[in-house]
Amino acid sequence: MRDCLVVGSGVAGLVAALELARNGCKVTLVEAKKHCGGRAYSFSDPRTGMEVDNGQHLIMGCYSVFLGFLKDIGADHKLRRVSPLRIPFRHASGQRAELKLRTGSGKSGVVRGILGFRALPLKDRFRALRVGAALQSLDERKLGALDGETAAHWLAGLGQSEEAIRNLWSVICLATLNTKPERASAKMLAVVLKEVFFGVRDASDLLLPEVSLTRLYVDDALRELSRRNGTIVTGNGVKRLVVNNGIVCGVVLKDGMLLEPSAVVLATPWKETGKLAGSLWPDETLSAVVSRLSPSPIYSLTFFIEKPITTEPMLGLLGTNIQWIFTRKIVRDLWMHTCVISAAVFEEGRPPQADVFKELEHLFPELEKFQPRGIRTLLERSATFEATPGLERIRPGPRTPARNLFLAGDWTDTGLPSTLEGAARSGYTAADMVTSYLEEVCDVEPGTATKFPRHRAEIP
Ligand SMILES: Cc1cc2nc3c(=O)[nH]c(=O)nc-3n(C[C@H](O)[C@H](O)[C@H](O)COP(=O)(O)OP(=O)(O)OC[C@H]3O[C@@H](n4cnc5c(N)ncnc54)[C@H](O)[C@@H]3O)c2cc1C
Repeated sequence: MRDCLVVGSGVAGLVAALELARNGCKVTLVEAKKHCGGRAYSFSDPRTGMEVDNGQHLIMGCYSVFLGFLKDIGADHKLRRVSPLRIPFRHASGQRAELKLRTGSGKSGVVRGILGFRALPLKDRFRALRVGAALQSLDERKLGALDGETAAHWLAGLGQSEEAIRNLWSVICLATLNTKPERASAKMLAVVLKEVFFGVRDASDLLLPEVSLTRLYVDDALRELSRRNGTIVTGNGVKRLVVNNGIVCGVVLKDGMLLEPSAVVLATPWKETGKLAGSLWPDETLSAVVSRLSPSPIYSLTFFIEKPITTEPMLGLLGTNIQWIFTRKIVRDLWMHTCVISAAVFEEGRPPQADVFKELEHLFPELEKFQPRGIRTLLERSATFEATPGLERIRPGPRTPARNLFLAGDWTDTGLPSTLEGAARSGYTAADMVTSYLEEVCDVEPGTATKFPRHRAEIP
């Protein structure tokens, strides 16, 4: 049987591993950490005694590939769908507003939604429609040109006031790109806005996990992989690749074990991929890409409380450091609130917990009456890469200079920001490439169990 090795058990690695197993490969999944799920996992928190995510994850209706993956592993029913899109907002001044696509997706729904968004003065709401018009007239050439521009510059050029950028576009930019508009690529924001607001029906729906992230997809994906005879190795990462004549002929794990797969998918984050495979590129292209990608942090504060301060599953906050508060009922009389700050760069490294609570108490005075049962703060320093201008030209595809080595991960050239959807798409693409490669080099019919490739090299 064809042996394939997938390195990294984030969404990209899990998707690639399962797809390869489905295609008839004998898959080994190797993960450096003790847990699987990469940047989207949950853990049992000793401080609160509860299961806590490493950060709230939001899924959109346009995540077709990630949602397809959840369906394949029987996990899609664990999401709560908000359709049509409706996001309530609360401003620090007490003002309330709602972004609501009244008639679902489609042009008229978007126009009515923007015009009804009272967080902006009426003239700014009309001006916001210019962005919609610009998006609809974007062709490939115009889109390509936007890659050199920041989102803030592009939006200002379309007549968006500072207030509109602060209370509408920045909110969307931070939530989808984890990058502030003054640093974000206009192209990347335009791609996201177009896909969400002018994409397929349901593209703008929100899907919120009703269980922790590990329960949402990691457990089911691993179960399915084991059912398909996959081997899962955790707590033992890849130390180095042995490459001979343009072929990866061995993979050495941290404990010294040598694996000899027919093909390898490296589904590791950009820095680790640079370390493991950077030297394969004769002109150091990959190392240059890796040095251009900078991490963008996400801060979350999760607490458990007997009476919720809001029952909205997702509430946007304006005029505050905290951008979102998510609410989920855990059991009867116990609710979990998660406050999120995207692109969370603070002078002190992270905002003091007390300051975050002060902001919350200002918005929800009733919080003082209910003592939260447990509080957990988390700062994911490399939550995503910063979606800055110019990146789209340099993000690498799945192919590498080694014929049987392929890349996957949210940072590869998925055309999307750092998201679950981008990671899932890259996982499928890499798995398809591995399958084609194996069919090309092996004496077999596609989709059948096989022997090793003809040109398998010797390990020096
Ligand atoms: C707090 C937070 C909030 C987020 N919110 C959202 C959101 O709302 N919506 C959204 O779409 N996305 C969100 N994201 C981004 C999303 O989680 C990522 O885009 C996605 O999980 C990346 O998956 P990946 O498989 O590409 O990489 P990763 O998840 O990083 O997986 C790579 C894996 O490789 C492993 N690895 C590294 N080196 C080695 C080695 N040498 N050997 C073996 N294994 C190795 C790592 O341990 C890791 O498990 C968020 C991320 C964070 C952290």
